[in-house]
Amino acid sequence: MNILTQPSAAIFFVAFVVYTGIRAVYARRTRGLVKVHREVDALEKCLLVVVIPAGLFLPVLYLFTPRLSFADYRLPPFATACGVVLMVAAIWLFWRSHADLGLNWSATLEVRKEHQLIKHGVYRRIRHPMYASIFLFGLAQALLLPNWLAGWSALVPFTVLYLVRTPREEQMMCKIFGDEYRQYMRQTGRLFPRIV
Ligand code: SAH
Repeated sequence: MNILTQPSAAIFFVAFVVYTGIRAVYARRTRGLVKVHREVDALEKCLLVVVIPAGLFLPVLYLFTPRLSFADYRLPPFATACGVVLMVAAIWLFWRSHADLGLNWSATLEVRKEHQLIKHGVYRRIRHPMYASIFLFGLAQALLLPNWLAGWSALVPFTVLYLVRTPREEQMMCKIFGDEYRQYMRQTGRLFPRIV
């Protein structure tokens, strides 16, 4: 099965282009801004070189060649519909979190000159809406690409990256913003709004 024979694969492809397009637009805006603090060690670098290539390479192989068809599984049409709903939510949240974070966005653990702590928009009740969006994207991918390799190529490595990176990111933010970030942490949840 591939992009020409499977509508869900074509839907995934369009979503993938939109998703990477959003990232490209905002990444361009932050290019050249001065970084004043960076916490990128060997582990962070290693995760970046595994997560991004795995997330991109396997779906491309699945969409354009029959090489991964040995790992296909079957899903009911209902699952595809759920995949579409999750994908729309993922794209919306990815766009909003980039828009709200603005020039403070970074692909890795770093802080820019004149970095501001964002607490509004989708950051008002959750601290990591962009990571929440990537989880939604990964779930949608597993439903739209019914293949054990291509379908799960974002979710599995991203879960590892999330578990390693998030505590470090929060530690870095506490170091830079001190009590303001600690207070923000008390008011928000990591991926879901805090229920108080
Ligand atoms: N973890 C966030 C942001 C991901 S981008 C999310 O999932 O939405 C990663 C960079 O964003 C970090 O290196 C940090 O510099 C910056 N960052 C994270 N949270 C922020 C916030 N609330 N305000 C401003 N910058 C933030």
